[in-house]
Amino acid sequence: MVWWEEEGEEMNPVKRILGDRWSMNEEDLVETTVSKKRKCNICNVNDAEYDGKTVRGPWAYMCEGCFDEYGIGLGTGKGQKLKLR
Ligand SMILES: [Zn+2]
Repeated sequence: MVWWEEEGEEMNPVKRILGDRWSMNEEDLVETTVSKKRKCNICNVNDAEYDGKTVRGPWAYMCEGCFDEYGIGLGTGKGQKLKLR
């Protein structure tokens, strides 16, 4: 592997400059604070743990199990973990 041909620091100067702060921002974006618990939109049984985009397109509140199955991941434009305020 030739490290200087990898995409990364050369390709993304903003990320290189921000360094740790960049990753802290990413952390912030994967969690969202909610004031009350919600039910999972998919199974309608468990409490939702995530608010995220599903493999079928629309966003939904999802429990852990449904997120594993239907969620596309965490991050901007993908999904956020719910944190009860
Ligand atoms: Zn569920």
